[in-house]
Amino acid sequence: MTILEALRLLGVKGLERVVAAKVNNEKKDLSCFIETESHLEPIFIEQEEGLEILRHSASHVMAMAVKELFPGVKVTIGPAIENGFYYDFDFDRPFRDDDLPMIQAKMEEITKADYPFTRREVSFQEALQFFEAQGEDYKLELIRDLGVEKLSLYTQGSFTDLCRGPHVPSTGKIKAFYLTKVAGAYWRGDERRAMLSRIYGVAFADQKALKVHLQKIEEAKRRDHVKLGVQLGLFNTYEEIGAGMIVWHPRGAMLRHILEEFEIEEHLKRGYELVKGPEILKTDLWKKSGHFENYRENMYFTEIDHQSYGIKPMNCLAHMLIYSSSIRSYRDLPKRYFELGLVHRHERSGVLHGLLRVREFTQDDAHILCTPEQLDSEIKGVLDFVKAMMSIFDFDYELEISTRPEKSIGSEEDWERATKALVKAVEDNRLPFKINEGDGAFYGPKIDVKLKDALDRRWQCATIQCDFTLPERFNLFYIDRDGQKHRPVMIHRVILGALERFIGVLIEHYAGAFPAWLAPVQVMVLTVTDRNIPFGEKVLGSLKEAVVRAEGDFRNEKLNLKVREAQLQKIPYMLIIGDKESENEGVTPRRRSGENLPFMKQAEFIQLIQEEVRKRR
Ligand SMILES: [Zn+2]
Ligand SMILES: [Zn+2]
Repeated sequence: MTILEALRLLGVKGLERVVAAKVNNEKKDLSCFIETESHLEPIFIEQEEGLEILRHSASHVMAMAVKELFPGVKVTIGPAIENGFYYDFDFDRPFRDDDLPMIQAKMEEITKADYPFTRREVSFQEALQFFEAQGEDYKLELIRDLGVEKLSLYTQGSFTDLCRGPHVPSTGKIKAFYLTKVAGAYWRGDERRAMLSRIYGVAFADQKALKVHLQKIEEAKRRDHVKLGVQLGLFNTYEEIGAGMIVWHPRGAMLRHILEEFEIEEHLKRGYELVKGPEILKTDLWKKSGHFENYRENMYFTEIDHQSYGIKPMNCLAHMLIYSSSIRSYRDLPKRYFELGLVHRHERSGVLHGLLRVREFTQDDAHILCTPEQLDSEIKGVLDFVKAMMSIFDFDYELEISTRPEKSIGSEEDWERATKALVKAVEDNRLPFKINEGDGAFYGPKIDVKLKDALDRRWQCATIQCDFTLPERFNLFYIDRDGQKHRPVMIHRVILGALERFIGVLIEHYAGAFPAWLAPVQVMVLTVTDRNIPFGEKVLGSLKEAVVRAEGDFRNEKLNLKVREAQLQKIPYMLIIGDKESENEGVTPRRRSGENLPFMKQAEFIQLIQEEVRKRR
């Protein structure tokens, strides 16, 4: 009996929405035969696992469509990803966005034809022969690398792919999909191998879910920080300067300055001390710390007076030397060293993206050195700090704890102690969390904070990282009550993370419309006619005097145009200076939302905006 027949016999409801099943916890096709004593569980299309099968099946359909439309194309791999799928192709020209409608139409034809997905098992030799006959070189490489006796092939209509499965029973189950974009991708992610064309699509259980998702994509495009970054005069990148290096234009540099000042203030409030280390440190020191051994491939090196130096990818080392510059007693602990530290890390050019993935960035980095007894309360303190900061920016967040990876340093005992401390702090905070096994840094377990933005997307920001090994390597100690030397525990932590990345997320979160306390320009003063300029100048002057970030637009242009431009720049307040304002010596503020406030004296307006800044709104 097949799984489908068994499910029917069991009277499973909504069978038309079942795409596969778990037999003794193993995912299988509905057409698979089943033993009577098995544990059987249907997988519905709208479940996470069902969607994954649906999306992967859609990638097969796309491959079939592309092969039919573009003779000579070679197929490679096509997995399901979050919200959709992709397939990588090798063709004599790269695919373009304008190829997509045709491929989409072909896919619709295929799904309407409702071809069944059929599975067949073949031997290693048969698989090789099959794909060799079709000239599918990439498949041959995959088969050889797999090196297994038996492989499975899936066929729908004219197309057969090497695949483990399972798949939806037939192409007709794929009812809601949309091809979104084309990108270049190296075969197996290797820059020395062929550059392929990757076509991305999204797929959902039904049209309604697809529509909701597409609206989110549209909204994300509208908020794209790279586009807004240029439009709002915040930042740009330049080919002449180099990839992954950000150039901050005046308004962006102002935004950074506001954030940095805010960060320093918040850290000082919480007992941190400001420190600053150099950009480049001797390579010998990176050897001592273990970075050279474990992190060298992400670092840049240079030479001074025939001596090798490493450009810092992390800020830890100078902080270690500051700690060990004098003898510390238990009464001096904890020490909390804070630095807005500029670091450089090598990222492959293919992953660089706007402010989100860069090669040079500034971290709001701190190192806390404490006694083992203080570890729990220090971690808790950092979690409270994260909470306060996230609420200011209106972010929700989730926590993940990462444990020991394969490539790592330190004893099993240290790792366990540190991991327990992190779990305890999170539990005491009554925060839900997830464990990522084996995902820690090489020197200790960590808590990652994933914030959720206005579009419900997740971003990595804060990290709280235990480290029992650097204090060892740098022979750090403190004198305890017993008069003996003891090893302090160290926490590396960032709250916002890389400022570049955080600003990128902020731009998209606020769609560029920053609250008044953050806005690089808070007020735009606009004149109606030239005779209002003297009073306009006066207003602008008084705002600047009060350290309100204001600019003036006194051009002899139509007021409508000047208002529209200020709106496009997403400036929180406009002060339109006409005859009424000039004669009565006051202002009529207008909010970005279009709301008009009553006529008021300049001092009143200054007070209003200062109040917003104070409340960080
Ligand atoms: Zn497949
Ligand atoms: Zn560090």
